[in-house]
Amino acid sequence: MKLMIMGPPGAGKGTQAERLVKELDITHISTGDMFRAAIKEGTEMGKKAKEYMDQGQLVPDEVVVGMVKDRLSQPDCEKGFLLDGFPRTAAQADALSNTLENMGIKLDGVINIEVPRERLMARLTGRRVCKACGASYHVIFNSPRQEGVCDSCGGELYQRSDDNEETVSNRLDVYEAQTQPLIDYYSERGVLLSINGDQDIDLVLKDVLAALKK
Ligand code: ADP
Ligand code: AMP
Repeated sequence: MKLMIMGPPGAGKGTQAERLVKELDITHISTGDMFRAAIKEGTEMGKKAKEYMDQGQLVPDEVVVGMVKDRLSQPDCEKGFLLDGFPRTAAQADALSNTLENMGIKLDGVINIEVPRERLMARLTGRRVCKACGASYHVIFNSPRQEGVCDSCGGELYQRSDDNEETVSNRLDVYEAQTQPLIDYYSERGVLLSINGDQDIDLVLKDVLAALKK
């Protein structure tokens, strides 16, 4: 299946993506994870992206679009993929649509995880991420068995530098201004699957899988 998952920062995209790619045996493409990997490697692109990420702003479209185009052409995407965190602007959505058309690919669905804004600050400031495998936890809502240690791979958990109140607030504003309008874009194209993300992680997953079967 060729899928996309969208929703505001903290909606649970990464959490659901981790489970969905296992269940459906498809490739997870998270632009945020790709930028964090580039920062870790110290590449020029990583250095540029970090300036925007630290402010809670979007990395310029041309940088993101080029990166995703390259990624989609890799062989592990042939079995299917789940785009997570891309597209985030109308220009990115248009670029994706052109790229997929050129590749002869049609999206099977766009999963839209809905969570009210007032829930998102607590989710993001309490988030902890595995340094090794990227799995997402929460100090209260989804705590690991052992504090600071990833349940699935034993890696060390850390707090993302952009998960502080000020940056989160910017990220939520940026989402509302630039990304939320894409809900209409995909709804008009008849591919949007809206899911209630304000419920237990397992229930969200169940609803997503049920929506994909329809
Ligand atoms: P996103 O990728 O959309 O930014 P994440 O999947 O990283 O969001 O989730 C953000 C935070 O919220 C994490 O700490 C995660 O453990 C927690 N979380 C995810 N889904 C739920 C849920 N259904 N209920 C409560 N907390 C959740
Ligand atoms: P995420 O991991 O999805 O929360 O993304 C973290 C940060 O990476 C965002 O706040 C942006 O600065 C940057 N980013 C990730 N994906 C994109 C994208 N599609 N367009 C622009 N910036 C992005």
